[in-house]
Amino acid sequence: MNVPHIMTPGPTEVRENVRLARSIRCTNPDLDYNFYDFYKETCGKIGALLKTKNHVRILSGEGILGLEAACASLTEKGDRVLVIDNGIFGEGFGDFVKIYGGEVVFFKGDRKREIDIEELKSFLESDSNFKYATVVHCDTPSGVLNNISLICPLLKEKGILTVVDSVAAMGGEEVKTDDWKIDILIGGSQKCISAPPGLTILSISDDAFNCMKNRKSDIASFYCNLLNWEKYYENKWFPYTPPISDIVGLRRAIDNMLEDEDILSRHEKIATATRNAIREAGLELYTEEGYSSTVTVIKVPDGIDDKKLRNYMVDRYDVMIAGSFGYLEGKVIRIGHMGENARIDNVSHVLFALQKSLEHFGFKCKCDMFSCFLREF
Ligand SMILES: *Cc1c(COP(=O)(O)O)cnc(C)c1O
Repeated sequence: MNVPHIMTPGPTEVRENVRLARSIRCTNPDLDYNFYDFYKETCGKIGALLKTKNHVRILSGEGILGLEAACASLTEKGDRVLVIDNGIFGEGFGDFVKIYGGEVVFFKGDRKREIDIEELKSFLESDSNFKYATVVHCDTPSGVLNNISLICPLLKEKGILTVVDSVAAMGGEEVKTDDWKIDILIGGSQKCISAPPGLTILSISDDAFNCMKNRKSDIASFYCNLLNWEKYYENKWFPYTPPISDIVGLRRAIDNMLEDEDILSRHEKIATATRNAIREAGLELYTEEGYSSTVTVIKVPDGIDDKKLRNYMVDRYDVMIAGSFGYLEGKVIRIGHMGENARIDNVSHVLFALQKSLEHFGFKCKCDMFSCFLREF
């Protein structure tokens, strides 16, 4: 199977040392106490990355598992939950809340812009009776970045627990979990962390664990029950056999990030240079305010079929970008410059390929996007 360069907003390119790390011999992770130490140390490193002293856990399942596990573990029948929705993942949280019997109240924002803090503030003045609230850090299909440094403390001040989906942002955007009062923060292995898909990571506050312990009803799931993970280390017991190769690879990827001192500024520079090149070429960005440094979302020019364009890029230039889904399907294309993808050579390649492919389908760019991008370095 030929694998093109995947310049998508997840999964992302996986560095060779991560791929090699995954190939070591497997011990029995349930019985070998060394593995419990390895797992715990890895969680500690993730905590350092996310600036938190909260409990960190790595679960076997992609980012979606983290979102569902948070909702399954917190929600009891009839609980009012505030779902902050200015994008597809934002809205999607509502489905998980409903599955577990919660009553969803949406706070809706413009889907091209970050959540307006003043509007949220005045909404909370009139209604703040919520057990918890959900918010997405970077809503990947539209590329909007929400300011969780303001949103989460505001909610917490009102006594509302905060659940943040940072799957597509952590590692590419700053996260200060404790300073920002985030009770449950969720990430996935295959975005900025640049490990293969398969793992979700969560940081869980004492308040969140206490809320789960004080439930009147049992958590209606085993796999999504975060309480099962509370005392894994003390009890030397995992709820199910951990995927050891995935976790060893994740550890290497986390070490790569910790060793990479200017990871955040590089993401920002790459993202700014990408947006400038796109604009100068005469293309339009979808996002209007609140740009994430991890993904650029571009409107498909009139008369161009996004699938044909993307397929042409793979066939001809060996590079894959993404379309989008839901109400954005066919309307935008997305370049993921997160994690290992956020490198000058990768992004110049994708911009060169995009330009050549657009020209093949009749759209004339007003500049050489790759030279315009490179000018900024
Ligand atoms: C990628 C992603 C997830 C995980 O979703 P998948 O569709 O399974 O990849 C969750 N939230 C956000 C914001 C994401 O970008």
